[in-house]
Amino acid sequence: MARRRVQRTIIGAWVGLLVLLGACGARPEPSSQTETGKVRFKIGYLPITHAAPLFLEKYRWNGSRAAYLPFELELVKFGSWTDLIDALNAGKIDGASVLAPLAVKAKERGIDLKIVASGHRDGNVVVVSPKIQDAADLKGQTFAVPHKFSSHYILFYAMLKKAGLHATDVSVVEMPPPEMPAALSEGRIAGYAVAEPFGAIAVAKGFGKVLYQSHELWPDSICCVLVLRKDFIDRHREAAVAFVQSYFDGGHAAESKDAEVKSAINTFMSVEEKVLDLSLKWIRYDDLTFSEDAYDTLRTYLKETGISKQPPAYADIVDETLIKAVEAEKAP
Ligand code: ZN
Repeated sequence: MARRRVQRTIIGAWVGLLVLLGACGARPEPSSQTETGKVRFKIGYLPITHAAPLFLEKYRWNGSRAAYLPFELELVKFGSWTDLIDALNAGKIDGASVLAPLAVKAKERGIDLKIVASGHRDGNVVVVSPKIQDAADLKGQTFAVPHKFSSHYILFYAMLKKAGLHATDVSVVEMPPPEMPAALSEGRIAGYAVAEPFGAIAVAKGFGKVLYQSHELWPDSICCVLVLRKDFIDRHREAAVAFVQSYFDGGHAAESKDAEVKSAINTFMSVEEKVLDLSLKWIRYDDLTFSEDAYDTLRTYLKETGISKQPPAYADIVDETLIKAVEAEKAP
């Protein structure tokens, strides 16, 4: 009975998201011009360590140094992926750091966005109760993901497939990420996969352990991506190229994982140092390019998991021109 109620809740949440995704109304232009002629625009994010390149971009260019940039960036914090996608759809933000499967679903529903870069490399873990020895032990148990349209659901699917299990062998529930560590410690779930630092919380505090790193289940996985609305790119190409350049620089800075990086991350989210240190061990920010091969693997998973029947082709959803313009500027 309880499981049926959980399933009904999940179905309700998915239907709610689909309604939001489908509600493509009028789209006001959120960007504007400053008095000095710069393009001012808004990028959405969730407070997760996966968005560190964005945090570093903003943190490093604050104060008087920002005068050198041809744009003025405002980062807009969201409490859930659904709210963020809704804002993209409504034209309240010009782009976002968002889960790739959600970007694909948004594109399918008519939001004309483009993936312009990756958010990070690797950096996800499957966390389980210490009682779980391998994936087969999850049979008949409850496992949490943040959203069905997530890389974390794909990791869950890949783990079950590797263990010879089916998605129906485990009861999967959607749960807000901040609730997951407590749900694991209280025995309400046997494990979870989610963006960081929520996996590291359970491991650092000793009531969860890593069953798999993402690269063990899905090499070169795609999790978060940086998206921009196509109309923003078309209207403000120069500012978009400069922003992507600055975002890549933010990624290189984040990869040092030093005190400055931790300060930058803590400016945008609250996380204990030992938890952050663990999270940062698992992730890479040094290469934020986006490859067609990796996208093809994501497409295959999206179809296998039923997340998308016909995901958009690489050329329809990825805009390589911004990265290429950045690379051309760097060439001697
Ligand atoms: Zn991510």
